Amino acid sequence: MDRPINAMEFEGEFSSCPRCAYRDGFHATFRQDGGVVRWLLTCPSCREVFDIGLTVEPGHPGGNKVLT
Ligand SMILES: [Zn+2]
Repeated sequence: MDRPINAMEFEGEFSSCPRCAYRDGFHATFRQDGGVVRWLLTCPSCREVFDIGLTVEPGHPGGNKVLT
């Protein structure tokens, strides 16, 4: 991902793009950052990337089993 990430303060709801006002949801991108994975939101209309502070803990797909 070569686009700059816009850090946004989450205030109750983040459902429309602050840049272009697109309102039909975001694409998700996950990026490893130390011991956590940052959950980034990309606007499908203007492609702007936002970080509203969401992180997830890396786990194992499907619980303990990984399909091969
Ligand atoms: Zn947008």
